[in-house]
Amino acid sequence: MKSGLKVTPLEAWIALKTGSTGSTLTREQVERYQLSRLNDSIARARTLSPFYRRHLAGMARAAVARLEDLAGCPLTTPADITAHAMQMICGSQSEISRVVTLDTSGTTGEPKRVYFSAADQELTVDFFRCGMSTLVGTGDKTMILLPGERPGSVGDLLRQGLLRLGGVPVAHGLVKNLPAAVEAMCREQVTCLVGVPVQVLAMARYWEKWQGSKRAPRCALLSTDYVSAAIVSELRRIWQCEVFEHYGMTEMGLGGGLECQAHQGYHLRENDLYFEVIDPVSARPLPDGEYGEVVFTTLTRQGMPLIRYRTGDISRFIPEPCPCGSSLRRLARVQNRLNSRVVLGEHQAITMAELDEVLLALPAVADFTAEVVYDRPAKLTVQVEILSGDITHSEQVILNSLRLIPGVHMAERAGLLAIGARIAHYFPHYSGKRSIRIMEGVRSAT
Ligand SMILES: [Zn+2]
Repeated sequence: MKSGLKVTPLEAWIALKTGSTGSTLTREQVERYQLSRLNDSIARARTLSPFYRRHLAGMARAAVARLEDLAGCPLTTPADITAHAMQMICGSQSEISRVVTLDTSGTTGEPKRVYFSAADQELTVDFFRCGMSTLVGTGDKTMILLPGERPGSVGDLLRQGLLRLGGVPVAHGLVKNLPAAVEAMCREQVTCLVGVPVQVLAMARYWEKWQGSKRAPRCALLSTDYVSAAIVSELRRIWQCEVFEHYGMTEMGLGGGLECQAHQGYHLRENDLYFEVIDPVSARPLPDGEYGEVVFTTLTRQGMPLIRYRTGDISRFIPEPCPCGSSLRRLARVQNRLNSRVVLGEHQAITMAELDEVLLALPAVADFTAEVVYDRPAKLTVQVEILSGDITHSEQVILNSLRLIPGVHMAERAGLLAIGARIAHYFPHYSGKRSIRIMEGVRSAT
């Protein structure tokens, strides 16, 4: 361990959960535990869930002998949840205490429903308790800027986890009124913020302009969406705060992995989830270090287990040991999702992550939306939202920023892309994971 760098608290927590008796957790111990849990999960799903009985029918009955052999098991997809959620439930529906409905970002309009038992939620509260101890301790105030009104919602489970570690949660919910949220943050003198990346950025920029003399939070945890380097550097500049990233999605039981003080990838929740990275086209598992699609299997989920579930997120395992000294696996920052990439011609592509880096780096920009109409040429239009009273950008500035993205620059020069920009006043909104909206143009079909 490097001096001054605290080993992730997830290490000791997972050692305890996996029944490790020694003082240090080894990969062998984690993997032995995972293999045993994996076989239990598969056997249970086959016995209790009509969906998995069918889905896994072609798989050998014998236990999976090595973790690598899981590659022979079929993948599950978000479409499976949309179509078969009820049949994925194991056991009686009366054991289900929380149903989370996710709006799909796709075009089908069919929502996904994910079901959790009380025991599933308890495991998430415990993960949040342990994970948050990376950032805060007894008596620290944490403002929760995530949905928390309903029992079992992410904000509610996080609040319970914070209480267990002796912290003081300040439940707020998603930011709907920016001045009120910043005012509450200053009034409560919070130590830590947990929120949606663009919403926390908007708070920092608002605070800098109107509330700059007030106390700043010491740290922030960003969750629910891709975190751009532009946001992290702005939060560090404005608040001088330490910025942590959480990786999770509802299907993971809301929590999946968390950065340690080294800020070099997420340490994974390996006691509850088994992660793989696969080639998104061939579905073959990839060696550590190579980028591919993140796939996970729940190891302890009771209500609705997910076996080899495709996340659509692109990342890689980091093969090198973490500077904090933990032996837990790390996943590199998720920068792309399969559905957030717009392909233009043979060699050019644009991602939401690239748009984030150039547009959110502009002063006073709080958020933006992007839309591509596939036409001849394709048309990329961004609507950049600026904090009110602060409009200093011309549309030309926005267009020049877009041209800093190599894919935009080259596609425009090749006549494959036209770009446009609009400027609007910011109002706080949240629509899940942000992505480029894609539409077919009138001429593209001809
Ligand atoms: Zn670490």
